[in-house]
Order: sequence, then C-alpha cells, then structure tokens
Amino acid sequence: MYTLPELPYDYSALGKYISTDIMQLHHSKHHQTYVDKLNAALDTAPELKESPLESMLAAPDALPETVQNAVRNHGGGHYNHSLFWQWMSPDGGGEPTGELADKLTEKYGTYQAFVDEFTAKALGVFGSGWCWLQPDMSIVTTPNQDTPMLLGLDEPLLGLDVWEHAYYLDYKNKRDDYVSSWWNVVNWEFVAGRMK
Ligand code: MN
Repeated sequence: MYTLPELPYDYSALGKYISTDIMQLHHSKHHQTYVDKLNAALDTAPELKESPLESMLAAPDALPETVQNAVRNHGGGHYNHSLFWQWMSPDGGGEPTGELADKLTEKYGTYQAFVDEFTAKALGVFGSGWCWLQPDMSIVTTPNQDTPMLLGLDEPLLGLDVWEHAYYLDYKNKRDDYVSSWWNVVNWEFVAGRMK
C-alpha cells in the first residue's frame, strides 16, 4: 500500500511564494487522490504489489492492460509529487553550488541562462504537465503525470509541476508569475543530493 508522505515543512512554510491554501489542497487532496487511486488499481493486480514504482512507470505497457492507465497517471502522480514536496523548501532559493553549479554553467553558460531556458520550457507545456532537469543537464517536459522514465530517461534531478492546480488559487492563469516565484523556494541541496 502506498501512503501519502508527510510534507517536510508546514503547509504555510513557503509563505508568499506558494500559499497555505494551495499547499494544503495540493498535498492533502490532489496527492492523496493519486495515492488512493494507485492503491485501488493495485488491489486488482496484487502480483504487482512488490514491483518498484519507478520500474512500472518506465514501462507501463508491460503491465496488465487493466492497470496501465492507472499506474501511469496515479502512480506517476504519486512519484512526481513525493519528489515535488522535497524539491521545495522554506530555506530554498538562491543558486546551486558545487558540482551541480559547475555542470549547469558548463551546459548553459550561466545559471541565469539555465533558469531562462527551464522557465521557457515550463511555460511552453500545453495544458497540464511537468518540466524536468535531467542528470545530463538537459531540460525535458512531459504531459499529464508522465515521468522522464516513460521517455526512457533517467530519474529527474528536479521537476516543476505546471498543472493549474499547482498555482491557480494564487496566480490565476499567470503561470509565468508562479514559475518565477517558484525559483525562490527550490531546494538546491536536495537536487544536488540526487546527482549521486
Ligand atoms: Mn500537482
């Protein structure tokens, strides 16, 4: 049985960047629903209960047809959001340091050039989806709750939820304002830790 992970900070911790209302709704309703629906699907295919979620998400077509969509969508939702909470922190923001900073600079020239490109790709997602930084420093996007693993890629270093449910209460239709605020809470320490 999958369970909703606790947030590593209070619902109010991200302050003016992402409101208490959004955090509460996003975590306790949206993420909880992904967990519940993933568990409901796996109840119908108990042979999958020992399968790691990451490998099921890399190849949902290999699963029984009756659970493929549920694992892809709700399993993806659970995987993505479990990381998303950790990719943010009240102590976040600023710029990465160390090896991560070096690799970003090597690929993009400057940290700001990376931010600009990631932001442009996040704003370019049509409808609901995610924008990812990959271990090779490339930036990719996926629709819905699809993960980079579904594209045959490694697990992401960093990801941004650009579903409207992630920002509409605070930012209405202004995804660009949400994305520029989000950089102020990115937990670079956690991102750097995923490089190892
Ligand atoms: Mn979401």
